[in-house]
Amino acid sequence: MHACSIRELKKEYVLKGETVRALRGVSFDVPEGDYVAIMGPSGSGKSTLLNLLGCLDQPTSGQLLLGADNVAKMTDNQLAEIRSTRIGFVFQSYNLIQQLTVVENIEVPLYYQGRLGAKQRRRCIELAERVGLSQRLGHRPSQLSGGQQQRVAIARSLVNDPYFILADEATGNLDSRTTAEILALFDELNQEGRTLIMVTHEDDVAARAKRVIRLRDGLLQSDTPNAPEQRQAAADRAHAAAAQALAAEAELMVQADRSPD
Ligand code: ADP
Repeated sequence: MHACSIRELKKEYVLKGETVRALRGVSFDVPEGDYVAIMGPSGSGKSTLLNLLGCLDQPTSGQLLLGADNVAKMTDNQLAEIRSTRIGFVFQSYNLIQQLTVVENIEVPLYYQGRLGAKQRRRCIELAERVGLSQRLGHRPSQLSGGQQQRVAIARSLVNDPYFILADEATGNLDSRTTAEILALFDELNQEGRTLIMVTHEDDVAARAKRVIRLRDGLLQSDTPNAPEQRQAAADRAHAAAAQALAAEAELMVQADRSPD
């Protein structure tokens, strides 16, 4: 089964009487378990495509299947239902609720669906543990690093067993060490069978995916698999950069210890 299948997808915006053709007929399939990076220059249609895949907007024409759901034909209410139950969003800015704890933030989608029983609560704790936050269950976002906050957002994206995780520049706010950690987590989730679709403008991030789709002027310019060696080399580079950053931090701490004050 495909996590998502799109055919001749078009999106036009009418702005001050002018029609902007943001997507001009894009087709591709994302099989379950795939890991896709979407790239393209500014204005190429990435956000428009992301909004359609995330059921935040309706296409002008074309087919958009998410799992077995034909989304292009849905009412706003049906779209909202799919959006909140079948898609896992991960944003650059984490979008956590500051007043809530780690576990409560992960529970939010279930809370809104009125599905938050004891079993689901346990599952949210397991998800927090799964993303490495077992020591932080009761912390609030302000007490967490950026990388930890993104882990909360990733755990939250998984509560519904989504068709796919839709990540929008998920590492855009993170330093090289934390980026390496988050991308390693994405690798693990993908190896566990999760489908990932991410928009990124960074070659090193896109190199981690199984496949790179490039948009240009609202059209699919290329759709290329990343060779396993290429992906491994990108992961190795990320680890090396992270190790270097860690060493530099340690060196700074040693210097601070030595400086008289
Ligand atoms: P990208 O994310 O690759 O930068 P977008 O999907 O944001 O590209 O934009 C594609 C095109 O559609 C651009 O020409 C942009 O100006 C236009 N566009 C995007 N959103 C709107 C909108 N809400 N109204 C009018 N034009 C839009």
